[in-house]
Amino acid sequence: MKNIYLDIDGVILLDDLKNRGRGALHLGFFLSHLAYNQQKGSYTINWLTTHCKDGSDKRLFEYLKSNKVHQHDYDLIEKMKIRPTTWKELKTEAIDFSEDFLWFDDDASLQEKEILYKHKVEHKLIEVNLQKDKNQLQAILHSGMIGKVPWVDEYPNYLGWKEKV
Ligand SMILES: [Mg+2]
Repeated sequence: MKNIYLDIDGVILLDDLKNRGRGALHLGFFLSHLAYNQQKGSYTINWLTTHCKDGSDKRLFEYLKSNKVHQHDYDLIEKMKIRPTTWKELKTEAIDFSEDFLWFDDDASLQEKEILYKHKVEHKLIEVNLQKDKNQLQAILHSGMIGKVPWVDEYPNYLGWKEKV
């Protein structure tokens, strides 16, 4: 896999009325998996969210800061240097279809899904629904789809960050 595309609301942050803005359950483990496998060169992680559609992640970090994300999750997200993407109408504009990818989103539109079908990659959209399954991020990382678990390699700081040596 070359690219991971990551939405924010409803995927890494809860968006139901009661918990809006809180980090999803298991977010620390989810981010650790992504960070670890990105460091190993398994894939590149890209933002695919309305909070960042002009190629700049400035607003996105302001948004995260103004929400109720745990500080250690925020710090890890900052260190991961997730790539901002550019798109106007449809998120699929930012997807590189020439490379393998996984796209995590809670709310892909019908039009976006049609484009995935056209490219025969509809299975690469992982539909997240944290209101149906609050443990879905854990299920995703246990499935192995986002790579190896950090602690198999005795990743010394799997909930934090290991500087690349
Ligand atoms: Mg969303």
